[in-house]
This record gives sequence, C-alpha cells and structure tokens, in this order.
Amino acid sequence: MANYFKDNDDLRYYVTRGIDWEKLLRLGHIGADPEAPSSPDEARELYTDIAEMFGELVAEEVAPRAAAIDRHGNRLEDGEVIEPPEMKEIFSQLAQLDLHALNLPRELGGMAAPMLLYFVHTELLARADVSVMAHSSFHSGMAMAMLMFSIREGSTEIDPATGRVLATRFADEIAEIVSGDAWGCMDITEPDAGSDMAALRTRGELDADGNWTVTGQKIFITSGHGKYHFVIARTEDASADDPDDPFAGLGGLSMFLVPTYRDEPDGTRTRLATVERVEEKLGHHGSVTAAINFEATPAHLIGERGQGFRHMLTLMNNARLGVGFESIGLCEAAWRLARDYAAERPSMGKTIDRHEMIADYLDEMETDIQGLRALAMHGTFHEEMAQRLELRKLGGGEAIEGLEAEIAEHKEQARRVTPLLKYLAAEKAVEMARRCLQIHGGNGYMKEYGAEKLVRDALVMPIYEGTSQIQSLMAMKDTLSGILKNPQEYVMRAAQARWRSRAARDPLERRVARLMALSLSVQQSLVTRTISDKVRSLRGVALGKWPAAFLRGWDPKRDFSHAMLHAERLTRLLADVAVCEILLEQARRHPERRELLARTLERAEPRCRYLADEIQSTGSRLLAKLAPAQAELEAAGSD
Ligand SMILES: Cc1cc2nc3c(=O)[nH]c(=O)nc-3n(C[C@H](O)[C@H](O)[C@H](O)COP(=O)(O)OP(=O)(O)OC[C@H]3O[C@@H](n4cnc5c(N)ncnc54)[C@H](O)[C@@H]3O)c2cc1C
Repeated sequence: MANYFKDNDDLRYYVTRGIDWEKLLRLGHIGADPEAPSSPDEARELYTDIAEMFGELVAEEVAPRAAAIDRHGNRLEDGEVIEPPEMKEIFSQLAQLDLHALNLPRELGGMAAPMLLYFVHTELLARADVSVMAHSSFHSGMAMAMLMFSIREGSTEIDPATGRVLATRFADEIAEIVSGDAWGCMDITEPDAGSDMAALRTRGELDADGNWTVTGQKIFITSGHGKYHFVIARTEDASADDPDDPFAGLGGLSMFLVPTYRDEPDGTRTRLATVERVEEKLGHHGSVTAAINFEATPAHLIGERGQGFRHMLTLMNNARLGVGFESIGLCEAAWRLARDYAAERPSMGKTIDRHEMIADYLDEMETDIQGLRALAMHGTFHEEMAQRLELRKLGGGEAIEGLEAEIAEHKEQARRVTPLLKYLAAEKAVEMARRCLQIHGGNGYMKEYGAEKLVRDALVMPIYEGTSQIQSLMAMKDTLSGILKNPQEYVMRAAQARWRSRAARDPLERRVARLMALSLSVQQSLVTRTISDKVRSLRGVALGKWPAAFLRGWDPKRDFSHAMLHAERLTRLLADVAVCEILLEQARRHPERRELLARTLERAEPRCRYLADEIQSTGSRLLAKLAPAQAELEAAGSD
C-alpha cells in the first residue's frame, strides 16, 4: 500500500529522532490528558503510528481523488456552495477518524496531539492535494483558534490542579467543527484592502443593547462557505491614529466571530450573511474561494475592541507556518513526479535523469525540500513551545522560573523563521512545480500527467497569507530594526561569526560561520546606507535641530527605501543562512545529517555571495528615479 509518511525518510527523521518531544511533553498540552505519552520514546512511537496511519490514508484515499476534484471544482447554486462529491467523501472519512480534532484537548473531543504532528499531517495532505489540505486546515485550525482566543480573553475555565478545561466560551462551535458539521474561515481581504490592512473598511457596530453587528464585504475567503467566520472589522476611526504611522488605522480594528447561518430545528438553514460569489480560479479547485456580504450581521467580539490586528497576527502566524508545510507538500509531490518520470523517459541513449542538467535540477529540488523542512520544523517547534508556555501561564499553572524570558526567546526564534519559511517555501513551490513540468517536456503541458496541476496549484502560495513581498518587508524590518535597537549585540554576533569562521574545528561549522558573517556584513551595509541617506536628508536643517530630526523624524517609507528595494534579496540570504544554521545544529546531534548540510552549503554559498554583491552594488539608479515621485506623493499628502 502507498504510504506518504513511510516513503519519506527525511520526514520520518523528524518524528522519530529530530523533534525534541521531551521538551514539549514536559510542558504538557492544554487540558488534562491522562492518555499523554509518558516518555519521549512512547511519544515517538505513538506519533509515528498516527503519521503512518495518516500517510496511508492520504496516499490511498485523497491522492486518487485529486484529479477528479480538480476537474469538478465548486459552484454556487441558490446562494449555497455545491462541492465535488469526492470532497464530501474525503471529509466524511476525516471526521469519522476524529482528525478535525487532532490537536484539541481530550475533554473537547480531541486527541491532544502536538502542533508539530498536526503540521506533519498538513504536509502529507498537501502532497496529495493542496486544496483538500487548505479546506481541512479550516477545521481543526479554527477550532484551536477559538479555544486560544477564549483562553486569552479569560472566558475559559481551567482546573488549576489538573489543567482540565472545565468550560470554554466556544464549546458548542468547537463541538460542531469536531463532528465535521461546520468549519471556520479567516475574513481579512476586501476589494480595496489586501496587503494594506490599514485600508480595511468593514465596520463593527455596537447597538444600544450592547450587541455587535458587522457590515461590509470580504473577498477571496478560503472555505468562505463555512459557518464560522473570524472577521476583522473597523470599530474605531482611523483618523484617531497617527497619520505618519505606516500602520495607521490598524489600532482601530477588532476581531469578531460571525456565524453566517443558523441551522434551524426543522433542518432548514437561515442565512445571516450571503455568499455573493465563488471565484473561478487557476488552481486549488477543491477549495472554495468566496466573496461574503455582511449586512448588520450579528457578531461576537473577541477580546477587547482595537485588538483585532493582534489577534489576527496570532491566526496568521500559525497559518503562515501552515502555508510553509503546504508548500513543502507540493514541492515533495513535484520532485517525486519529476524524478519518477525522468527515470523512465529515454532521450539520446539514456534516461533523462542521467543527463547532467536534469540530474542537477532533481538534486537541487531534493536538497531544497530538506532545507525547507528543517526551517519549518524549527519555526514550528519554537512557536509551539512559546504557545504552550504562554497557555501554562494564562491557565494559572505553577510559576516557572524565568517563564517570561523563555517565552520571549521562543517567540523570537519563531518570529525570525516564519516569514523566511513562508517566503522561501512558497517561491520554491512555484519553482519546483515549473521544473517538474519542464522535466516532463510536452507531456508536462498535458493534463494527463499531473504536472500542470501542480503549477496551477503552486502559483497562489506566494500570494495568500501575506505575499512574498510582504514577508520580505517583515523579515527586513525585523532584522534591521534589531540592529538599530541593539548595536552591541550585533557587534558581538559579527565578531563571533568571524571568529568561528576561522577557529571552529569542524570545517562545516567554519563554512556556516562564513555565511553568517557575510549575512551580517550585508545587514550592516544596509543599515549604514540607511543612516547615511538619513544624514544626507538633513541638509538644510539647522545644525542645532539635527539630534531631534535624526532621532525622531524617521519616515519608514522614505528612509528605508534602499533596504526595501533589497528586502527580497535579503530575505533569500537570511533564509539560506537560517537553513544552514539549523542543519548544523542537527548535524551536531545526528552525524548522518552532515551530508545534507554539505549538499546545502554547496548551493547556498555561491548564491549568498551573489545576493550580497547584488545588494551592495545595485539599486541607486532606480531609487534616484523613484525619489521625485515619492516627493510628489508626500507633497500631495501634506496638502
Ligand atoms: C486563492 C486565494 C485564497 C485566499 N484566501 C484568503 C482568505 O482565506 N482570507 C483572506 O482574508 N484573504 C484571502 N486571500 C487574499 C490574499 O490574502 C490577498 O490576495 C493578498 O494578501 C494580497 O492582497 P491583494 O490581492 O489585495 O494584492 P495587493 O495588496 O494589491 O498586492 C499586489 C502586489 O503588490 C505587492 N505589494 C503590495 N504592497 C506592497 C509593498 N508595500 N511593497 C512591495 N510590494 C507590495 C504585493 O506583494 C503584490 O505582489 C486569498 C487569495 C487567494 C488568491
């Protein structure tokens, strides 16, 4: 029987050896779990069993239905969405196996599995079909979000002695999702507001009786035919915010849980919001992408008003890790399809996998997938550690020494890696799907072989959950502002990297340290350029006013233009360095990982040198061209 977990040694490495289950187990899951593994060995065994069971399910039940789902797609009839029958068959199996509750606490009908295991499932499912995976994530992911939000706002009662969840605000909604009767979705995008969330216009209004409603239109909502919508809406006026803040208006947003229909006792459905349309799209045909109209629709505020952006970031952090694993699943499918085809297809006296260029493509794809998986597992481990520690704190568990500092450390690691993963995995999904098609030659262009579906499915990865450009801006901003806030730490890290690049005993460690030193020098050049541009902009300002103008008068749109121009290149370089650092750490614990690190370095080193050169030697011409237009915009804005 086909099994997508058993046939994947790199993925198996993480479940059976690579992940430090002990650290996670020590913190415990939310809720009381009498069936929790009592030792790391037991955890490894249990999680391997679950992953093997799921690996077989996706290979045998999901993958064979993917082409039919792609052909049938979804359609809107009389205001309701009609899904392909194959989707219904798959989702009834997932519900029967309780997989919509994989990571929920036992007392809420769940299996209390770690987030890392949940994402192993995400990857496996995505290898079979990304649109099935996307719809699946809006079940357990949303149920878990409901619980997390409720704990954070203090509407969940937890027994401090056992950790058991005694009551939670969204218990009924969670139960409906677990049974497969409902699912959630995330409503952010509007016709005039995508990347620019400060432009969101959907309104949340409070009536005299203290009830909230939302009014507005949300578009491109994945699984938007779901019952439970997390809607981000404006409750405070943007004008109250600082107009110079690039995120002006974000503080005026609040998060709501909005049911879009009510199931009546007689089996009928009363709609509270309408599905305006279901998009016809290039790929992801199993997943519904809907436009939803809210017209004074009853809504439930989550947390406090004005906290919407913060809540949304929590949802999006997990979702971005999810897209990372989703992209890796697609890459894995592309690499395997290409490899198997190339091993069979003869050309000029040998199979095409023996031709140097094709062999090089396949080798690079395999190496990149393993590097991406290392990044994804590392980021998720730290995100999960941070969330478990935070929940323990909120749940009133016993005080743990240095808890805050530990949470901050894990958060920092997760925050550093998440945009790098989202960026690189999504871009690689597109690159690998295209390579897979190319390796198939003319056959790749035909539906029969499955390669063209991967290209269509992959193209959305760099767009949703924050585009590649937005991920790059986030990574750049975090990196450079880190240096500006704490230059001493930067100096120390640069000195350490230089020292290790010469003095480390392990030659692989020296090579990783050299890459780190290169990355740090590029960061320094961006900061130096930013500061010198700023100093130049003070021409004409009286000398006595320089300190105030320099320290306070920063305009991110203008002063960071050089860094913004190179943000994507910097992100690519940061991602390469992060992958190498993580693989070095793995190689220290498990020497058999050295071969992967060596393969990764062989490709990362010349790429990083090229990126560094591009960042340090280009951009001035274009910025000079853009400057007058920017000045015009500013002048218009100040009128
Ligand atoms: C299939 C699909 C499913 C989706 N699912 C959901 C969902 O479930 N929920 C939801 O809320 N939304 C969803 N979206 C919407 C998606 O998140 C947005 O499309 C995305 O955030 C980009 O916004 P936009 O389309 O308005 O593009 P724009 O924001 O207009 O961007 C256009 C281009 O400009 C670039 N750009 C924008 N600003 C900058 C900048 N400052 N610097 C450099 N480049 C910039 C972008 O990177 C992009 O390349 C989905 C979209 C698709 C296609």
